[in-house]
Amino acid sequence: MNLLPPLLTPRHQLTLALHESQTKAEVYDLAVVGGGATGLGVALDAASRGLRVVLVEADDFAKGTSSRSTKLVHGGVRYLAQGNISLVREALHERITLLRNAPHIAQPLAFVVPAYKWWEAAFYGIGLKMYDALAGAAGLGPTTFLSRSETQSALPSVQLQGLRGGVQYWDGQFNDAQLAVALARTAAREGALLLNYMKASRLLFTQGKVSGVACDDVLTGKAYAIHARCVVNATGVWVDALRAQDGQHQHIVAPSQGVHIVVEAHFLPGSTALMIPKTSDGRVLFAVPWLGKVILGTTDTPRDDLSTEPLAFEEEVDFILREAARYLRVAPQRSDVKSIWVGLRPLVKPPDDEGENTKGLSREHTVLVSRSGLVTVTGGKWITYRAMAEDVLQKCADSGLLPQRQGLTDHLPLVGAETSSIAMQPLSAPQGLHSYGSEQTWVQQLPGHNVFLTGGLSEAMVRFAARYEYAVHVEDVLARRSRLLFLDAALAMQLAESVGRLLREETGLDPDVNGFLKLAAQYQL
Ligand SMILES: Cc1cc2nc3c(=O)[nH]c(=O)nc-3n(C[C@H](O)[C@H](O)[C@H](O)COP(=O)(O)OP(=O)(O)OC[C@H]3O[C@@H](n4cnc5c(N)ncnc54)[C@H](O)[C@@H]3O)c2cc1C
Repeated sequence: MNLLPPLLTPRHQLTLALHESQTKAEVYDLAVVGGGATGLGVALDAASRGLRVVLVEADDFAKGTSSRSTKLVHGGVRYLAQGNISLVREALHERITLLRNAPHIAQPLAFVVPAYKWWEAAFYGIGLKMYDALAGAAGLGPTTFLSRSETQSALPSVQLQGLRGGVQYWDGQFNDAQLAVALARTAAREGALLLNYMKASRLLFTQGKVSGVACDDVLTGKAYAIHARCVVNATGVWVDALRAQDGQHQHIVAPSQGVHIVVEAHFLPGSTALMIPKTSDGRVLFAVPWLGKVILGTTDTPRDDLSTEPLAFEEEVDFILREAARYLRVAPQRSDVKSIWVGLRPLVKPPDDEGENTKGLSREHTVLVSRSGLVTVTGGKWITYRAMAEDVLQKCADSGLLPQRQGLTDHLPLVGAETSSIAMQPLSAPQGLHSYGSEQTWVQQLPGHNVFLTGGLSEAMVRFAARYEYAVHVEDVLARRSRLLFLDAALAMQLAESVGRLLREETGLDPDVNGFLKLAAQYQL
């Protein structure tokens, strides 16, 4: 297969394109507001159908919930327990589709449920066998019952006292922010215009119908008007703000926060995840090897405020450490925490009838088309972004906002997946050149490819982020192109100046080193 060179993403060219479309009074087919999993998925789907698409993101791509997930590509064992077979089927289809279209970003992962009570292995094993049966040919590996010693070799640090055995099953894991950037870049390759640091400030109306969005460039303050036949509000937990401008004052999102803490790999050596199906207060908790460290999480705490950087409550940290201590022989302490980060789940509550199309409410995600034509999509899971996008495009077509066209993303490899001969490493291994999939050769051609700021992050990788991956600020590089802030906040702080210098050299823009240092302090306990 021919390897396409990466597309450049210089800020001035992106804003110039927006300016030109404004001066020529061009009308886009679709304007998407929000550059997380949902909005990026919609932009890619629409662009690959040949529609003219623009997407604006107020901060960086995946700055919101989409960089703060547990990073699991799961088919939804939970839905199975609820008897929602069609949702499990959809999630299992999306699981295999993602692993096929982005093998450098999403991979299969073995999970072990350790059993301490006599009934646990049989109870969980039977449910997981049904999960395998539903997956059929899309299965990633058979569920197996493990003896005590097999459980110990899969999870060398597991608590042995009272251990009877375990059950191993297969799901997947991914790098969420990397997937978001890959979606943005693939959408750009399909002809979409995407801008981060471009906030939608106001909806535009023509004769009572939504006809575009007014935007502000967050870096310069310059204002733009975007005209579009269809506007999709994909702003995650923030959808209600844009809905209010459309006269929809009833909130549909009830946010709930989830905390993750990250510790060194020796707390869970190997490449198998630990799944605790029922914590002391009835929740699910994971310990997942990821990029050379271990993620422990998560929690589920309702929140009223909608901060872009929510902070963990003390009880949440205590809860995670306490539960981890029940299952790991050497329990991580507060002083072992390398990074702590919090995400807000966009849980959807049904609005009363506001004259909206509420058909989608029974599903995990929700798509609403208002009387004035504003399309709002929220909820769902990261990994069902593709199915959600198809649903959005179908509803836009049904409402006469966009033409009816066939979706093409099922077999659309994302950037970096353009060859079958990608040298792969498991996602449990630290980030490095291998993380770039088929784009490794382009990284290696940039200055500084052999100058490493730390293991797995070379000067060339920072330059690559600035030239081809829309990175402007130090945070964009250290939090979402590399994941260092999420893995080791203290180390990320040490690199801020060097990354800032390289970014300034590449873009000529202020990389906001001080902003990053202030933020990174919040990622430490
Ligand atoms: C703790 C936790 C764990 C999770 N774990 C998993 C998991 O393991 N697997 C999985 O599949 N899913 C998981 N999820 C769910 C998944 O992360 C979310 O469903 C998904 O990221 C939501 O994406 P989104 O694009 O809708 O929202 P977001 O990612 O929040 O994106 C919305 C974007 O809109 C932007 N925005 C807001 N207002 C404006 C404006 N006026 N103009 C322009 N842009 C604007 C924001 O800056 C933001 O970037 C988890 C969620 C949480 C909270």
